[in-house]
Amino acid sequence: MAWADPVDWAQLLDGTACPMCADAHLVTNQSSQLITELRQSYARLVHNQYRRGYTVVILKRHANELFELSDAELAGYWRDVADTAAAVQHVFGAVKINYAVLGNLCPHVHCHLVPLYVADNPPPLLDMGDGEVLLDSDRFAQIVADLRRELGRHAELSDGPVVP
Ligand SMILES: [Zn+2]
Repeated sequence: MAWADPVDWAQLLDGTACPMCADAHLVTNQSSQLITELRQSYARLVHNQYRRGYTVVILKRHANELFELSDAELAGYWRDVADTAAAVQHVFGAVKINYAVLGNLCPHVHCHLVPLYVADNPPPLLDMGDGEVLLDSDRFAQIVADLRRELGRHAELSDGPVVP
């Protein structure tokens, strides 16, 4: 845990060694693939699909806590999260979306969207280390395309086009 090393943690906090600043905008990085760029964030499909539709919405700029954002940034960011959740719900038919804003390993504002399904009754405690499911590349690319299309629809309905 980076907290144990105050120098490492300070560099994560101030962004000088922030992995999300380095790769949140890339088409593909070690953990996920870009679905699309939104108003205040990047929506990304996580490679580990241990929960079908597991996505993450990463704030474009470096900030550690939600209270560091202006009112407009905060509203735009949560609009992005909501639009992404709507797309995930539509594409996958999730019963419920769980939203997790943690940042314990990387303190750059991001929200995990973890979909739950009928078979998840009773709902499990959120465990993002609960195994690994990697899809074949064609299936993964199809999901990214489906979510991008849905996000275009939702973003247009809510507040103007931001999806290319
Ligand atoms: Zn960062």
